[in-house]
Amino acid sequence: MSATIIDGKAIAAELREQLATEVAAFTDDSGITPHLAAVLVGEDPASAVYVRNKQRACEKASIRSTLHRLAAETTQDELLALVAELNADPNTHGILVQLPLPSQIDEQSVLDAVSPIKDVDCFHAENVGLMVQGRPRFLPCTPAGCQQLLLASGTQVAGAHAVVLGRSEIVGKPMGMMLVQRGAAANATVTICHSRTANLAEVTRQADIIVAAIGKPNFVTADMVKPGAVVIDVGINRVGEKLVGDVDYEAVRNVASAITPVPGGVGPMTIAMLLKNTLTAARLQAASA
Ligand code: NDP
Repeated sequence: MSATIIDGKAIAAELREQLATEVAAFTDDSGITPHLAAVLVGEDPASAVYVRNKQRACEKASIRSTLHRLAAETTQDELLALVAELNADPNTHGILVQLPLPSQIDEQSVLDAVSPIKDVDCFHAENVGLMVQGRPRFLPCTPAGCQQLLLASGTQVAGAHAVVLGRSEIVGKPMGMMLVQRGAAANATVTICHSRTANLAEVTRQADIIVAAIGKPNFVTADMVKPGAVVIDVGINRVGEKLVGDVDYEAVRNVASAITPVPGGVGPMTIAMLLKNTLTAARLQAASA
């Protein structure tokens, strides 16, 4: 079997076009241009590229974006002061603090400080709680992007056994929570695996859907995949000059029925979902003004 390639780049482009139309309609009606503030602390080159890509995508969708670049030695208090300023600014609708932050800063304290109504990454406990209860304000960007890929590829999720590899707060845990909800591309039976999971390959072989988010290059091998399974690869790992996923793409594509490539799979979807959340944030703030 040779798997269908789930083209995240194309699906994201379509979503971004739809969003651009929605942004234009919102701005026409309200006179408000959605505005995302991105905060980048330090000189991490990968983070700088991610932020630049997000800003470019904003521009294309007529969402305003402002980059706040802070030095690597910025203190936690200085960063918290900036977050407070952005929280209070009525013309800033979304706040994105690019991770990782330098070691002198406690990430959790900073993420907790972002106003829940501007929390377009959906990291705040209030937004995570709402999502878990099935009444989301925002959806976390990467898992939401994965869910959209399942939807767009026509994957049967209801009743399927979905195995999520990884339990991070950013990807694995919310992904599992979203797949188990009632709703479209959901209603799955979910297993969430992590580094302490016993007999991992035995678990993954039972999966109709695998979402791999562990950050280990080519970790998921063909013998770990049930023939016909759908494989969503969240991983982004640099191996020499190349970016590779958490899935051994060349081997697994001969076993799976559908698979996302890296790059060009989940990555572009994450950005599209960020734009969607920024528009949602602007709408919510306009409604409550
Ligand atoms: P984390 O490092 O925060 O979490 C990795 C998870 O994988 C942990 O839960 C860990 O388990 C688990 N894990 C590690 N090794 C194993 C193993 N051998 N067997 C089973 N589980 C294991 O990573 P993130 O969730 O932040 O990111 C995961 C990957 O996704 C990375 O490659 C990252 O670059 C990529 N990513 C891609 C995005 C995109 O837009 N495409 C967005 C965000 C991330 P434990 O908890 O026990 O340590």
